[in-house]
Amino acid sequence: VSVSDLVDESFKRISEVEGKVQAFLTLDEENARNKAKQLDEKLAGGDSTGILFGMPIGIKDNIVTKGVRTTCASKILENFDPIYDATVMQKLHNAETVMIGKLNMDEFAMGGSTETSHYQRTYNPWNLDYVPGGSSGGSAAAVAAGEVPFTLGSDTGGSIRQPAAYCGVVGLKPTYGRVSRFGLVAFASSLDQIGPITRNVEDNAYLLQAISGVDPYDSTSANLPVPNYVEQLTGDVKGLRIAVPKEYLGEGVQASVRNAILEALKVLEKLGATWEEVSLPHSKYGVATYYLLASSEASSNLARFDGIRYGYRAQGAENLIDLYKKTRSEGFGDEVKRRIMLGTFALSSGYYDAYYKKAQQVRTLIKQDFDKVFEKYDVILGPTAPTPAFKIGAQIDDPLTMYANDLLTIPVNLAGVPGISVPCGFDNGLPIGLQIIGKHFDEATVYRVAHAFE
Ligand code: GLN
Repeated sequence: VSVSDLVDESFKRISEVEGKVQAFLTLDEENARNKAKQLDEKLAGGDSTGILFGMPIGIKDNIVTKGVRTTCASKILENFDPIYDATVMQKLHNAETVMIGKLNMDEFAMGGSTETSHYQRTYNPWNLDYVPGGSSGGSAAAVAAGEVPFTLGSDTGGSIRQPAAYCGVVGLKPTYGRVSRFGLVAFASSLDQIGPITRNVEDNAYLLQAISGVDPYDSTSANLPVPNYVEQLTGDVKGLRIAVPKEYLGEGVQASVRNAILEALKVLEKLGATWEEVSLPHSKYGVATYYLLASSEASSNLARFDGIRYGYRAQGAENLIDLYKKTRSEGFGDEVKRRIMLGTFALSSGYYDAYYKKAQQVRTLIKQDFDKVFEKYDVILGPTAPTPAFKIGAQIDDPLTMYANDLLTIPVNLAGVPGISVPCGFDNGLPIGLQIIGKHFDEATVYRVAHAFE
């Protein structure tokens, strides 16, 4: 097959299902077809060296793409055409992928259902009455629907893993610092990571390989060698020590989900791994800690959207302050405003010690829980989310219920460790996700376990 054939297939599938799934905000068909032709010429010349040569890929719309509209699913960036590429886009260029388009998401990655997008809903391909999860709902749905085999998402509190779980695909949040954040529109900079969403673990390892590594444009990217992830997918988990936190199978976790995880553990036992129950005692404070810290960072990061520098600008303002106010009132949606207000409050001088500082201290305790468990165990295993996907409209008016879906993914971001979601069963036709959490920069072991289980 030629690259043009692959790209044709992708657009053909999109024309068949996109009307129902609505995963894409922007399709970049002309550029994709031109790129495919270029790569086909290279192929004819025997020069196909990229590790993802010719592979169609979709990109979450909070990753900047030179000359291709990047909205963060917000009205405030409705006509924003970036003048540069994110580092991951440069790396995908080197890997010789073909970008098909930009994917829907919750506005500025704030949400867990893709319903806070200013532009459209995205529907779960397994059952169109259900959400695809979020915030990378478009990225997960596009893979599940067969529109593209590879996508990138971003994960601040679960936004790659939770939609991957709801859509029955594989999604990895890398270790904080593994992948450059340069060109990822910042939500909460101390938590954000870009990561791969794919149909299987091997594809996922290839895509992580392509995007990882230190970057002079991101001082938080780690200067560590990138191992060959694919080579380490040996299928061997003999002697592996698995920790299962009791908090991850306890209250709030639906019985069908708990049972699917216990079945998965049996499979791993058969393959020669052992597991024991452990405790992550501070993980119960994860959701509260995260929503204070992430909102605080967001309130600062989103100050740049003022109607002067980017995107949307309100009409009829009387002076500069009025222009800021009108632009931000009209340009941001309700969930984004809620976070900005919460974050501004938590950071204000009278309350800083009680909220922001306290949350930072609890974050350290949560990280130490992980450190302790990893002294004795190779990976931590549990569900990705307490339930399978929920119905469209069921939680959008109830933020606290929505936030509770992040119970099992958030501690991983707070600790900075890597986590993957892989499919591990169904409940009433809706996929269930298994989460495997690893030590800092030990994505290789996470992949090895996920692959053996697959
Ligand atoms: N659902 C979480 C939130 O709304 C996680 C979002 C994310 O990881 N980007 O903040």
